[in-house]
Amino acid sequence: MSVIDQIEITHHRLPLDPPFHAAWDGRARAHFDATIVRVTDNEGRQGVGSGDLMLGFDGHETLFVGQDPLDLDRHNIVLSHIDFHYGRCWPLDIALWDLAGKVKEQPIWKMLGGVDPIVPVYASSGALHDPSQLADLATQFLEQGFPAMKIRFRSRDNGGWRADIEGLEAVRARVGDRLSLMVDCNQGWQMPWDTDPSWAFEDALPVARELERLNVFWMEEPLHRADLVGHQRLRDATSVKIAGGEMTRELSSLQTMIDGGAFDIVQPDVALVGGITGLADLGRKLRDTETIFTPHTWTNGLGVLANLHLVAGIGGAPFVEFPFDPPTWSIERRDYMTKTPLTQKDGRVTLSNAPGLGVSIDEELLASTQLA
Ligand SMILES: [Mg+2]
Repeated sequence: MSVIDQIEITHHRLPLDPPFHAAWDGRARAHFDATIVRVTDNEGRQGVGSGDLMLGFDGHETLFVGQDPLDLDRHNIVLSHIDFHYGRCWPLDIALWDLAGKVKEQPIWKMLGGVDPIVPVYASSGALHDPSQLADLATQFLEQGFPAMKIRFRSRDNGGWRADIEGLEAVRARVGDRLSLMVDCNQGWQMPWDTDPSWAFEDALPVARELERLNVFWMEEPLHRADLVGHQRLRDATSVKIAGGEMTRELSSLQTMIDGGAFDIVQPDVALVGGITGLADLGRKLRDTETIFTPHTWTNGLGVLANLHLVAGIGGAPFVEFPFDPPTWSIERRDYMTKTPLTQKDGRVTLSNAPGLGVSIDEELLASTQLA
């Protein structure tokens, strides 16, 4: 048996010129930070993970060093306690799965019981666009073979959500029914500086009516993450599927929302909630229910890859998020830490058979972007 020898955490910053205007942010992003976690065993194998900043992990290395890297359930329990007291340190869970894959010489999707390395994906835009630009983007996605596209709503000026509806109308007029469309209302949580209140049921209902008219497949985060009654009422009131839960911190809170009938589609992200171990457990439990689990994944290329392994491993999702809004959210930016950017063909990603995540880190770029 090998043992965990070392955990190393580095922070990196990629300048973004032109900046990326994330719809949910309100401030232009002129750089893209990534934290890389490397866990090494005493035989020289290394696992990597990323997706959150590992805040509060410092000093907890000794809880893992000397342990069997394959004891993934145990490590996940310790990480859930760290998550309660400090930050979201789930990138270590991803790194431990990558290392475990290297010990077992298996890709993560196979370790999880998967039989098919192909994962269908939807194109997930990230910025607010004017209607004609959004329709152009939808045309690109259609030409690239994506089955579906997610559109962001969060206009505050120039008409608010009614302006966002104009963009959705332009897309529908352009692509007809050749793309499934999803809308992310971005009401579930806020950036630290954002003091706008989330929508209540009464705010979300007229939006849902418009989404029905435009045959939208799901309405994402229409309400505050903890508004169970609002979610129940909205699900009863509309035929559009209600999605959410991308950053609900604890799996127990998410389970309360699921059990209460809040969601048609539940979207925790392995890099931010529960890790691969925790979400594999949740996803398997949901497989035989009416609730669809398809992870949200807007962190970086390593986070996206980890979520795709999870879905290939446990199945059940119609498609998974593929963050892509060129040029300001390009694959090159999203995946800058890897030498093997994650590409899709005809709306499908094919995962490799290489052990673990099957990813090769771009050490040169990471060295040049490392923060002191
Ligand atoms: Mg979202």
